[in-house]
Amino acid sequence: MASLRNFFPFIQNNPGVVYFDSAATSLKPQSAIDALLHYHTHESVNIHRGVYKLSQHATDTVESVRQKVTRFVTDEKDGTSVFVRGTTEGLNLLAHSLTSPKSHLKDFFAAYQSDKKPAILISESEHHANIVPWQIAAERMGYALLYVPIDSEGNFNYPVDFLSRIEASYSLRIVSLSLQSNVTGIVHDLAPFREAAKRIGAVFIVDAAQGILHAPQTLRELQPDFTVFSGHKLFSATGIGAVVGSKRVLDSLDVWQGGGGMINLVEKDHSTYLEAPTRFEAGTQAVGEIFSLGKAIEFADEYAREIHAHDREITAYADAAFEKAGIRFFGKGAKTRSAIYSFEIPGVHPHDIGTLLDEQMICIRAGHHCCQILMRALGVSATARASMSVYNTQDEVDKLLEGIQHVKKIFRK
Ligand code: PMP
Repeated sequence: MASLRNFFPFIQNNPGVVYFDSAATSLKPQSAIDALLHYHTHESVNIHRGVYKLSQHATDTVESVRQKVTRFVTDEKDGTSVFVRGTTEGLNLLAHSLTSPKSHLKDFFAAYQSDKKPAILISESEHHANIVPWQIAAERMGYALLYVPIDSEGNFNYPVDFLSRIEASYSLRIVSLSLQSNVTGIVHDLAPFREAAKRIGAVFIVDAAQGILHAPQTLRELQPDFTVFSGHKLFSATGIGAVVGSKRVLDSLDVWQGGGGMINLVEKDHSTYLEAPTRFEAGTQAVGEIFSLGKAIEFADEYAREIHAHDREITAYADAAFEKAGIRFFGKGAKTRSAIYSFEIPGVHPHDIGTLLDEQMICIRAGHHCCQILMRALGVSATARASMSVYNTQDEVDKLLEGIQHVKKIFRK
């Protein structure tokens, strides 16, 4: 299997550095960096409103990236992608528009016809980006916010009648769950929630920020109503991501941010709006970043087999290495898990672990990883987290474990 490591200039430019923080952001292949640079050095013009050729060309590139993004995520013929800054912005958009009384959702989702108290279902494993926007929307609109419980390893852990009890008491309108945890690497089994959402007529959303790279096949099989992801965790520049969903459904949603680029007509007392996806893209877009996202998607698509094989191999190797070294990590008992190790050295604070590993040029992350509710379920306030991607090697895993032994020695653990 060809190594994809050489595609990433960070590796050559930072000799000796071991990068284990891909769950915070991935390294970028040269092609995704060049695309950003190319836009600013060769095109550099704004899209959509230009009558001149250069503007039309940049617009065509943006629209072709939109198609690439949509096809990467879904087979749905009616699918389209709204460009957003990332998963956080995408989920805020959905939280606003899917709870707005101005959206026309009754035709698409039967749960919106019910008179029972409306509810949103998320899980205790979610990133704050898939919690806080729903809290804000639930509070504003009088929805209940319900959580799928998890066990002390981070696995979904709910009674058999969990969903039927929710159904009996609420009109479950929105189910929004992450495909993969950015803390434990657990790939959540979302199939039962998808089925329930389809049966009830609820909107089924997948936060694919972590899972899009590690479990793309599962994502396609799930066919969510909306998929949200960030380009920067999938090899592209920062500041760009997408909400992927049906154009017809997006057309029925209330707009959220207003401004240039999303309107049809502006009168003094009201405005009319363009169709989706542009109705959700107010203001100047991150054009260079969209170019970069296009190349990142091409990379992920072209090397999908290698990425998947590497993911399985490095996870098997690191699982065994952690086990052998007696270092406990969260996520035990999961059917599917990959490439992320939230580990502990009892009696040593994760920040100290991170700082001491940094002295050995090993980059890991320490903290709550934007998952405070998950931390409480795991019974900790923070973890040390090593997260891996295509450019990491088994030698680097060995270095990490040597580094961890060094930390243990310093603290006499
Ligand atoms: N959800 C998950 C599962 C994530 O891992 C992340 C980023 N770590 C986010 C949401 C938020 O993504 P962003 O900060 O790019 O908006």
